[in-house]
Amino acid sequence: MLEDFIHEPRVAYFSMEIALRNEIPTYAGGLGVLAGDTVRSAADLTLPLVAVSLVSRAGYFRQEIDAQGRQVEQAVVWEPREWATPLDAKIAVSIEGRAVWIGAWLYVLEGHMGGRQPVLLLDTDLDENQREDREITHYLYGGDEAYRFKQEIVLGIGGVRLLHALGFRIRQYHMNEGHSALLGLELLRRYVYPPEDLRPGEPPYDLPRVRALCNFTTHTPVEVGHDRFSYALVMRVLGNAVDLATLKYLAGEDGLNMTRLALNLSEYVNGVAERHAEVSKTMFPGYRVHAITNGVHPYTWTSEPFRMLYDRYLPSWCHEPEQLVRADCCLPDAIIREAHQQAKQVLIEQVRARTGVALNPKLPILGFARRMTAYKRPDLLFTDLERLKAVARQHAFQVVLAGKAHPHDEGGKRLIEQLHAQARALEGVVPVVFLPGYDMEIAQALVAGVDIWLNTPLRPFEASGTSGMKAAFNGVPSLSVLDGWWIEGCIEGVTGWAIGNAAGADDGDARALYDKLEQVVLPLYYQSDPGGWIRVMKGAISKNASYFNSHRMMRRYATEAYIR
Ligand SMILES: *Cc1c(COP(=O)(O)O)cnc(C)c1O
Repeated sequence: MLEDFIHEPRVAYFSMEIALRNEIPTYAGGLGVLAGDTVRSAADLTLPLVAVSLVSRAGYFRQEIDAQGRQVEQAVVWEPREWATPLDAKIAVSIEGRAVWIGAWLYVLEGHMGGRQPVLLLDTDLDENQREDREITHYLYGGDEAYRFKQEIVLGIGGVRLLHALGFRIRQYHMNEGHSALLGLELLRRYVYPPEDLRPGEPPYDLPRVRALCNFTTHTPVEVGHDRFSYALVMRVLGNAVDLATLKYLAGEDGLNMTRLALNLSEYVNGVAERHAEVSKTMFPGYRVHAITNGVHPYTWTSEPFRMLYDRYLPSWCHEPEQLVRADCCLPDAIIREAHQQAKQVLIEQVRARTGVALNPKLPILGFARRMTAYKRPDLLFTDLERLKAVARQHAFQVVLAGKAHPHDEGGKRLIEQLHAQARALEGVVPVVFLPGYDMEIAQALVAGVDIWLNTPLRPFEASGTSGMKAAFNGVPSLSVLDGWWIEGCIEGVTGWAIGNAAGADDGDARALYDKLEQVVLPLYYQSDPGGWIRVMKGAISKNASYFNSHRMMRRYATEAYIR
């Protein structure tokens, strides 16, 4: 099967997490879903890619919620053999002075239009390795700093070695976030100047050649979000992969900063939205940071009723989502309404099955689902419960929430508990349900089945955000703070609505949210003529789904980053 993929040179796409399908728990959230959508679009567009990630045998975790509203984390052990093929090749990397052997599973991602893409899932759980080393590829984002660094050695250095051992020819490397930046060190070791060109005292590495091979996409608009390892740890675990002076020159004097390393090793660097690229430029002065705004995979994130609708009226939408610009004039109102009502019924049924709560199909549903962490402000809607009740007494609505907190994020876990308490405080006035176990399947039901998609991050921490783009494919408008992709996607009253303004102070956001809901969004929903609301649904499809998709994103990576 491998022979199908090694006959032509490929772009190697490295990501710590990847959402291949819901049954495979090798993803935690947005970064992994983006990686999955990248490979799905590459399959549809027949771009020659090979993805490299970790097998994460014990997954991220399955979320349960106890009677007090607290998150309980359950391991999700999966069996790679059920979905992937073990490959014969094995290579070793040196970790703490030991040889750690790395094998891989081949997962073949099959697109719905016949395209296929290879995905290598690296695995250290081999008989050759000691027990401790066999666990390196077990837990996604688990363990301590040393564990994380070992995972990044396996991903970056092990990934490059294994690609070569398997016979892949790589035309470009693409690092999806800094976790895989050690791949550049392996490339430096491979590309050295011939001895006759060396000057005494100069390192032998052909840095320009490595830079010409590497691309880096940064996702984090805050310094603390970047992996950084002390050189004491680096020397103990990795040793002298390249000499320390060169490493410090590339990755920072006072610690190995993975983002800095990736920046210095890549000729092409980009942020994931226009604003995020601007913020990154001020964080990293002196680097050229391009902007390629994220997108989502059309087929994956469009519900069945909307797929059928687009197939009928805009048949080539799956290959060329730009066709959706015609949605405003081509799609009959009654049919859009019917398709949405079907998607809403599917969500209502899932909510009932998972929580026992019966939502009312006649009342609007506000949806909010994302990683539960402070900057996303899942509690903003609940800032002033009396005010929220007053809004609901005028125009009734319901709320569905979902999201996991990272096991070490105590603040995020407290937010989940608080949300449950606030839901109880609103009982009888505003129905609020929390769907446990946020994953791709719940996301698919939510982004299609709610009426309004809510997004309330603290500016400028949302680099892009993608769930609102998924909602757009289903005709669901966003009500969102102007940050990340929404700065580009929001046309007020046409594709959805803004909360506050782009430069506004954060402390005014709750009031702006209540005002907008009470005076603009809910009154439009309840207008006796549904035409006004459906116009906004169509605006979300025609202006946003047509653009914020991963086909456009990949066509840009192909023409601007991979071919340059
Ligand atoms: C799309 C998605 C995300 C990312 O959503 P954001 O809006 O970027 O926060 C996270 N988790 C799952 C399961 C998703 O499907």
